[in-house]
Amino acid sequence: MARVFVITGPSGVGKGTLIRGLIERIDGLQLSVSATTRAPRPGESDGVDYHFLTREEFDRRVAAGDFVEHADYAGRSYGTLRSELEDRVAAGVPVVLEIEVQGARQVRAAMPEAVQVFIAPPSLEALRTRLIGRGTDDAGEVERRLKVAEQELTAQPEFGHVVINDRLDDALDALTAIVAGELG
Ligand code: ADP
Ligand code: 5GP
Repeated sequence: MARVFVITGPSGVGKGTLIRGLIERIDGLQLSVSATTRAPRPGESDGVDYHFLTREEFDRRVAAGDFVEHADYAGRSYGTLRSELEDRVAAGVPVVLEIEVQGARQVRAAMPEAVQVFIAPPSLEALRTRLIGRGTDDAGEVERRLKVAEQELTAQPEFGHVVINDRLDDALDALTAIVAGELG
C-alpha cells in the first residue's frame, strides 16, 4: 500500500500551506524534513523546517549516498535524506515529501509506488502575487523562482494527480481525498 506521498509544484503555489492542513487532517502523517544549503528565513529552525547544511556537508552527504534524491534549485541544493524515510517506511508510517520537480522525478524512479501530486497555480500571475505576498524573497529571487516555475509547469502531464490551488479550501479537500483514498 502506498505510504509515501510526494507533493510537488512551483515555489509559491501553496505546497507548504496545503501540507500543514493535510497533516492536521490525516492521522499519523509525518513530514520528511529536507536538507538544504540555503540560509534559514526568519522564523525557520534547523531540524524543523529544514536540516540546514553547509555546502561542504551537503556535498559530503551526497557522496556518502545519504540522499534518496537531491537537486539544485535557484542556485541552492535541496535533498531528501534516506534517514527521513527509511525507518518510517519500514514501520508503515505515512510520510509526505515537499520537493521540486527534478527531485520528484528521482523519487518516481527510485520508489515507483510513491503517490505523486502536482500542485498547480490558477495562473502565473497568481503565483507571482503569492511569492511577493509571502514576503520571504526579494524581487530578484521572485523572478528567478518564476522563471523556474514556467519550466516546472510543463511537467504537469507527468503526474498522476494534479490539484489546482485556486481556493485553498477546495485544494485541501482535493489533496486530502487523494491521500485518504490511498491510505484506505
Ligand atoms: P510553497 O510551499 O509552494 O512555496 P506556500 O505554502 O509558502 O508555497 O504559499 C505561498 C504563499 O501563498 C503564502 O503566503 C500562502 O499563504 C499563499 N497561499 C497559499 N495557498 C493560497 C491560495 N489558495 N490562495 C491565495 N494564497 C495562497
Ligand atoms: P524554498 O527555498 O522555498 O524552501 O524551496 C525551494 C524549492 O525547493 C521548493 O520548490 C521546494 O519544494 C523545493 N524543495 C524543498 N525540499 C526539497 C528536497 O528535499 N528535495 C528537492 N528536490 N526539492 C526540495
